[in-house]
Amino acid sequence: MSAIKEPTFRESTEIMFNRAVRLMDLSPGLVEKIRVCNATYKVNFGVRLRGDFHTFTGYRSVHSEHMEPVKGGIRYALSVDQDEVEALASLMTYKCALVETPFGGAKGGLCIDPRDWEENELEQITRRFAYELIKRDLINPAQNVPAPDMGTGEREMAWIADQYLRMNTTDINNRACVTGKPLNAGGIAGRVEATGRGVQYALQEFFRHPKDMEMAGLTGTLKGKNIIVQGLGNVGYHAAKFLSEEDEAKVIAVLEFDGAITNPDGINIEDLKSHILATGSIKSFDGGIYHAESSPSMELDCDILIPAAMESVINLENADRIKAKMIIEAANGPVTAGADEILRNKGVVIIPDLYANAGGVTVSYFEWVKNLSHIRFGRMQRRQEETRHRLLIEELESIEGNHLSDRFKQKYLHGAGELDLVRSGLDDTMRAAYQAISEKWHSSEEITDMRTAAFLVSIERVAKSYRTKGL
Ligand code: NAD
Repeated sequence: MSAIKEPTFRESTEIMFNRAVRLMDLSPGLVEKIRVCNATYKVNFGVRLRGDFHTFTGYRSVHSEHMEPVKGGIRYALSVDQDEVEALASLMTYKCALVETPFGGAKGGLCIDPRDWEENELEQITRRFAYELIKRDLINPAQNVPAPDMGTGEREMAWIADQYLRMNTTDINNRACVTGKPLNAGGIAGRVEATGRGVQYALQEFFRHPKDMEMAGLTGTLKGKNIIVQGLGNVGYHAAKFLSEEDEAKVIAVLEFDGAITNPDGINIEDLKSHILATGSIKSFDGGIYHAESSPSMELDCDILIPAAMESVINLENADRIKAKMIIEAANGPVTAGADEILRNKGVVIIPDLYANAGGVTVSYFEWVKNLSHIRFGRMQRRQEETRHRLLIEELESIEGNHLSDRFKQKYLHGAGELDLVRSGLDDTMRAAYQAISEKWHSSEEITDMRTAAFLVSIERVAKSYRTKGL
């Protein structure tokens, strides 16, 4: 490991925030109010497992309450500490403002390696952690709504939702206390894929902006572009799958914690994911070459690098060797502040985390609204829409010589179900946010990168909200 001193994740995020804020005309007092975390709660709780007491440490940090509820995932990882959870909570504030979801920013974490525990043990640990947070109103449909993050998913969210219900039996909106739940427990279609899907929509929008593509030295479309993905978990898997299967991009390397797979002809993501699920590792996958040391594969020549695992993986030590033309930060904080500067100077375009992975919170917002309205999206209008479309087709076909193809009829007749509506809402959100960032980016010579532009759009909105609200 190098001896180069890097700022912590929180400090790194603040350096990026400060770069943007310097270009704004905000009072120092307001800047400070926006920057700091409002509160971070640390809980140490015991669970009796395997014949003994085990003490676990968990956090819930609330960065900004300019809008409530506050929103942010719960992470299970050994890296979890106050610094990490506060950095992630602050990113949630800026992210929510950027994609116009009406939430403040928060984040939670439990310092645990989920792989060390059996499912029933994880359930006990999760329920106890949830109990500690719920009784302090740190999980509550109106105040603080968690979601999945690294190391957690639908299963954990279902346990948290059930724990909340047990403790709040008369709260009719109980299901809105957490998002990312399974469909049968009040979840929404498309939430599992949402963050990876959002990464795809973000890239599609980038490729609709020739001026932005030019900054990265890219031309054409996503088709045939070489992509490297780090982390084939929820976010990385969906992004890689959609980009390779639907946009015909080529995933030439996948990096995981236990090595990397490379294949210049493109890796079949579905096959690799099935292999990982079946064997617990990417080793011995026969659709590419296995490398025990994963990090050199991140430095291969490619068009797009997608870090989708964790923070600080592109740092002062390796930034110089990164050859990607552009980086899209599917993970939170994958590029340290120092690496960001090196990459900027090299002309690498970075689509920043606060925008790139905002698909998750966007669809979480839809789920929260669904829970509060107690009805599935599309339930009232889908068949009515189909009936109107059928009428039009019948009328058109009644005209002599007019024949519509079966493919057209099938596509046109299909009324939008929940998944269609969620994807459409997500696509619209990602496009609108991208356009706001791109416009800001090109509005002044002083704004030299997309991260600063994204922070500017977002901080302006948070500042406006504080001003309207008063303090
Ligand atoms: P996950 O736990 O599902 O997947 C993470 C993957 O990365 C795993 O496959 C893990 O083995 C791999 N990994 C871990 N350390 C690695 C390393 N050093 N090198 C290579 N691979 C490594 O987590 P996730 O939910 O996909 O989250 C990934 C990132 O995306 C995190 O930064 C998270 O904060 C961010 N994010 C997630 C969501 C979401 O909806 N899940 C939303 C926004 C942002």
